[in-house]
Amino acid sequence: MNSVQKLTKLFSDFPGIGPRQAKRFVYFLLTRDNEYLGQLVELVEGLKRDVSVCSECYRYYPKNVSKTNICPTCADPNKDKSKLLVLARDVDFEHIEKTGVYDGYYFVLGGSVPILDKDPEKRIRLRELSRRIEKDSIDELIVAMNANPDGENTEEIVRSYLRPITELKNITVSTLGRGLSTGVELEYSDSETLKSALEGRRRSQF
Ligand SMILES: [Zn+2]
Repeated sequence: MNSVQKLTKLFSDFPGIGPRQAKRFVYFLLTRDNEYLGQLVELVEGLKRDVSVCSECYRYYPKNVSKTNICPTCADPNKDKSKLLVLARDVDFEHIEKTGVYDGYYFVLGGSVPILDKDPEKRIRLRELSRRIEKDSIDELIVAMNANPDGENTEEIVRSYLRPITELKNITVSTLGRGLSTGVELEYSDSETLKSALEGRRRSQF
């Protein structure tokens, strides 16, 4: 394989990028000057060095904003400690924050679970979430997944995995009100829709 083919293959691994788009990226890079390419290489190399994973919510955050291994959101004492909102991915965090209606803490699962997946514990942070709930005093757990089959499946897995502990600790588990149209990912929902989905969340005891 030559460089064009190798790089195309690498870009095809990116979420939502097919081989045709991947090839367009490669040809785009070929049209750029060395300065641009140098900057790109430098940023990619520094990414893991400059970005940390929060030990509480598992979100990525820039290292320089915190001396500890906790992100600024988790370190904020003014948040409502009784609420924990569970997200599939980092990108969903900003969208929830933008609505301005949620004032509690977060937890990032690290993905969603496709239907028929045999080993969800390997795919998402179920054990870590369970430990987090054990250690904190939470009244409400909001499971905010995408309104698609994988999201609904993940919601159900989270709910049943945590059932022993949510029952024991009398924690309300709620899900987003489906103002969100079916099939739409949180990432692509507008702020107003997401806001009403959060406000109209459905609560159930475990
Ligand atoms: Zn955090």
